[in-house]
Amino acid sequence: MVVEGVRQLQPYQGGKPIEELERELGIRNIVKLASNENPLGASPRALEAINQQMKNIARYPDGSGFSLKSAIAGHLSVKADQVSLGNGSNEILELLARLFLQPGLNAVMSQHAFIVYPLAVTALNAEVRQTPAINFGHDLDAMLAAIDSKTRMVFIANPNNPTGTWLNHQAINAFMDRVPENVIVVIDEAYFEYVSETGFASALSLLDSYPNLVVTRTFSKAYGLAGLRVGYSVSSREIAELLNRIREPFNINSLALCAAEAALSDISFLEKSRQLNDAGMRQLERGAAERGLDFIPSIGNFICIRFPGDVNDLYRQLLCKGVIVRPIGVYGLNEHLRVSVGLEEENSKFLSAVSELMA
Ligand SMILES: *Cc1c(COP(=O)(O)O)cnc(C)c1O
Repeated sequence: MVVEGVRQLQPYQGGKPIEELERELGIRNIVKLASNENPLGASPRALEAINQQMKNIARYPDGSGFSLKSAIAGHLSVKADQVSLGNGSNEILELLARLFLQPGLNAVMSQHAFIVYPLAVTALNAEVRQTPAINFGHDLDAMLAAIDSKTRMVFIANPNNPTGTWLNHQAINAFMDRVPENVIVVIDEAYFEYVSETGFASALSLLDSYPNLVVTRTFSKAYGLAGLRVGYSVSSREIAELLNRIREPFNINSLALCAAEAALSDISFLEKSRQLNDAGMRQLERGAAERGLDFIPSIGNFICIRFPGDVNDLYRQLLCKGVIVRPIGVYGLNEHLRVSVGLEEENSKFLSAVSELMA
């Protein structure tokens, strides 16, 4: 009885929760470097805002998200009616797919791209068109070549998860110039706030030139609010208006709304998070190099390290030592593990565990 697209689906597998490993092994002091979360937690301003908001939780949230949308619009210098809120940016990705796809149509994406894209497309029984990666990153020429008259969407993560690879502004601009106007291009900037690479630029500045462009962002990564589920897109007014038709009436809860708004204003927390990430990334890169391990250069808050031998076995052995990382076989990467950048001592614990297991 189940619709065809859903029959083919494998459920999304997130990073293993700390409590689950505690339950399974009866161990403590677990280090989780598996879901690209902010190791500093959330901004104190966000926590304070949640405390204040608690007394109102008997009330429905503001379904229009007026205050948060206005804050985002001010922060990004766009109009509030271009902003759409989602229960995580994940929800926005799914809503966009529902707006533009149906059986007989297709969406183009790269090999090794964020796995939520094929999930969202397959669930609608539309076709996933994957193009081969180059150097683990998106090959925009191949993606252009894959577009045909049945293509309605292109998904690009910049930087991409799990590879950490990225596309510069010129490449994105040239791509947008060549994509047909009736193909919606989603540029997923979930890690934007972590990027310190000069030469990287947001696609937001292209929105005025390309009405078929949608940029998504999230409060789950650098802003440290993954547990609250809130993300957003910036698009043309027309697309925002369409998203507003199909979203749930109260898709963002009131604690998430106020915490996200407070987090947005805490520039120093964000700066501290970025600096910690830069230092932690150098620590992991050095640690990998010292152990003779290859890695994919990443500008996100995670890095894919290649290991000799069976990585699933190594993953399980790391679990036994209380270190959770992410196997990425479902991304077609069977020789790498993805490691999120943690606190200095967490990165050290991971590197020491690797040394012991490799010895
Ligand atoms: C983590 C992630 C997201 C979604 O996160 P939400 O928590 O749903 O906002 C989206 N895209 C990429 C590439 C990600 O890595």
